[in-house]
Amino acid sequence: MVAEVIINSTAKKLNRTFDYNIPKELEDMVFIGSKVLVPFGRFKTLEEAHVVGIKQSSEFEIKDIAKVETGLTDKQIELANWMAKRYFCNVSECIKLMQTPGTRTKNVNNRIQEKKINVVYLKKDFDEISFDIESGKIKSDKQIRILNFVKDNEGCTIPEIEAFTDCTRAIVNTLIKNEYLELVEKNIERNPLNSKKVDSTQNLKLTDEQEKAFNKVAETIDNNKYEQFLLYGVTGSGKTEVYLQLIDKAIKENKSAIVLVPEISLTPQMLDRFISRFGKEKIAVLHSKLSIGERHDEWERIKDGKAKIVIGARSAIFAPVQNLGIIIIDEEHDSSYKSEASPKYNAKEVAKKIAKEAKIPLLLGSATPDLTTFYNAKECNKITLLELTKRANNSNLPKVEIVDLKQELANGNRSMLSNDLYQAIEQNLKDKLQTILFLNRRGYSTFIMCRNCGYTVKCKNCNISMTYHSYENKLKCHYCGYEEKLVKTCPECGSDKIRYFGTGTQKLEQEIHKQFSQAKTIRMDVDTVTKKNSHEEILNKFKNGEADILIGTQMVVKGHHFPKVTLVGVIAADSSLNIDDYRATERTFQILTQVAGRAGRENLPGKVIIQSYNPENFSIQNAQKQNYEEFYETEIALRKQLKYPPFCDIIIIGFNSINEEEIKKVSNLAYEIATKNLDNEEFKIFKPMPSPIDKIQNKFRWRIIIKGNMNEKANETLNELLKTLYAKDYKNTKITIDVNPNNMVWLR
Ligand code: ADP
Ligand code: ZN
Ligand code: ZN
Repeated sequence: MVAEVIINSTAKKLNRTFDYNIPKELEDMVFIGSKVLVPFGRFKTLEEAHVVGIKQSSEFEIKDIAKVETGLTDKQIELANWMAKRYFCNVSECIKLMQTPGTRTKNVNNRIQEKKINVVYLKKDFDEISFDIESGKIKSDKQIRILNFVKDNEGCTIPEIEAFTDCTRAIVNTLIKNEYLELVEKNIERNPLNSKKVDSTQNLKLTDEQEKAFNKVAETIDNNKYEQFLLYGVTGSGKTEVYLQLIDKAIKENKSAIVLVPEISLTPQMLDRFISRFGKEKIAVLHSKLSIGERHDEWERIKDGKAKIVIGARSAIFAPVQNLGIIIIDEEHDSSYKSEASPKYNAKEVAKKIAKEAKIPLLLGSATPDLTTFYNAKECNKITLLELTKRANNSNLPKVEIVDLKQELANGNRSMLSNDLYQAIEQNLKDKLQTILFLNRRGYSTFIMCRNCGYTVKCKNCNISMTYHSYENKLKCHYCGYEEKLVKTCPECGSDKIRYFGTGTQKLEQEIHKQFSQAKTIRMDVDTVTKKNSHEEILNKFKNGEADILIGTQMVVKGHHFPKVTLVGVIAADSSLNIDDYRATERTFQILTQVAGRAGRENLPGKVIIQSYNPENFSIQNAQKQNYEEFYETEIALRKQLKYPPFCDIIIIGFNSINEEEIKKVSNLAYEIATKNLDNEEFKIFKPMPSPIDKIQNKFRWRIIIKGNMNEKANETLNELLKTLYAKDYKNTKITIDVNPNNMVWLR
């Protein structure tokens, strides 16, 4: 028999199958999905590969498979193949997402070791041991104490014996040597939830709306049927309770569940709700802060069927669950479900594929659904809409006020804080209540320009403005991390009229200290969140009342629940509105609605103040009213008129090169092939152009934008296009294709 294998490599040329002979003695062990080691290339080293097909014979002269290990299932291989086509990447890159973390290395010694401990068992029947004691063969008191202890506590550790019998390790060893006791190696799991103690909770009695939603989804679990649902309801409307009860149903039927949440929402509080309902043994958590050992062990607990509920960020969709019963994606509008690195997969699409194959429901949930999701639910019947219209615990929505910054300026207020926001902060400080201030830019000044000649200070590696960071007193590039000293005179004209414009979180913090000298603040942005768990630490400090005001970027928007926060200030709602991306208004609406949801969730009434230069913009207006549907109606009409998703897909062929001549040549060739092979009626192909940020880390960036509805034929054509370009071996140029990327500007 012959195996077709995919070599573990990101080299584009190796994204195809190679034939290997399956030696007779391995025939019963090699299946589709098996991980194998094979001799490859001129060097005699063995390469790791996965079997993706098995056939009778090969037309080539082939070598033997050297070694087999368990790998993936044939279903996973099928999914990897599907993903590789759809997301224009190597099959091996997709396989990697599905492999047990820490096992992807040829050198077995470097792999994650099972963490083992030695535990002690009796080696003989206790009757036999009793006989030896009575007959005086065992005389020592201590030995007898130990034997009695182990009889009652088989599987204990040596330190436990030492502690409870007050004997030393030496005596245990003697008993082992005399064959009364034996040591057994046992795997222990590094369960990241181990230190947690949480009171248990019961299912709540569902409201009518919750029950209706529950029943619809439950029915598909019962009938083993694929269906996609959208659970649409404001924060606090009881979506999570519906998830919990559906999961409960699934595991009672011996099925399992995958729950995806945005990484940043995966907080201890959030996990506590699941643990309190199901207990930590049944739950596996997967996120990027786990050590590779922890991720390895979680993966094994899932594979073994011990953990039936997987909660995790994007890549948890690949968890090796058995007998999957439901997939839930919370905050489905969140952009983190789409990977920006290769494979550039969208976890929602992968979830849909898995749910279809497994004939199970896929439940999406959000207070501000992705426009495309809502469109598919409302107008296309592709998704079943389930609505929760009331807040489950009757807490009130906060009062939202919009401040026109143009008016503030006209009144002579040049500070970052409008009059209203200033007074509200002052009042909150007096009342000993907490405030969150949100500004989506970090650093101090985001733009440095010479007033005399117009020169702006840019990164020497990237075509992008440097940001001034006041705490380190340095200029930093937010794209490549390059730093330099402050500029005092203009390098262009020598003038000293260098001015710093734009505001970031550091400037805001200093301004708050200036205006409220007694206020204690905590800042949370990429610059303050660095160490493991530090994100958590900052939020806990704030929650424990160690500061009056939390100042932060996007990071403060999600997850946490702060009972004492009654005021939220949005410093500049326009910062996300002015980005050159068709989703700018959608993102602004989502962020503002979410930030607003931070205020006054308990019994204290909340207040939100949004400062803006465009107070009449409909995304800001509707965020004020917390009216998703009105926002949706306006935005979807605009998308239709301008032909943007969901009315078409946006495909970006991206080029990235240190060689400017080559990048032009390659992108022009790509354009030629695309225009020749794609249907010009269906697809609008724009000429190659430099990207909005046309240089990052000394690499030029160009792109071709294509608008149209992606289909199988176009997918095929574009895969062919890539193959043609790869075959030409442009050494300096990287080519990628991304469908509906998160960010049109290619921000990171
Ligand atoms: P969401 O996930 O939509 O934000 P949650 O499920 O977290 O909403 O519910 C918000 C609050 O309401 C929680 O404190 C939850 O315990 C409570 N809650 C949810 N459903 C019910 C219910 N049926 N009866 C009573 N309280 C409920
Ligand atoms: Zn100048
Ligand atoms: Zn840079």
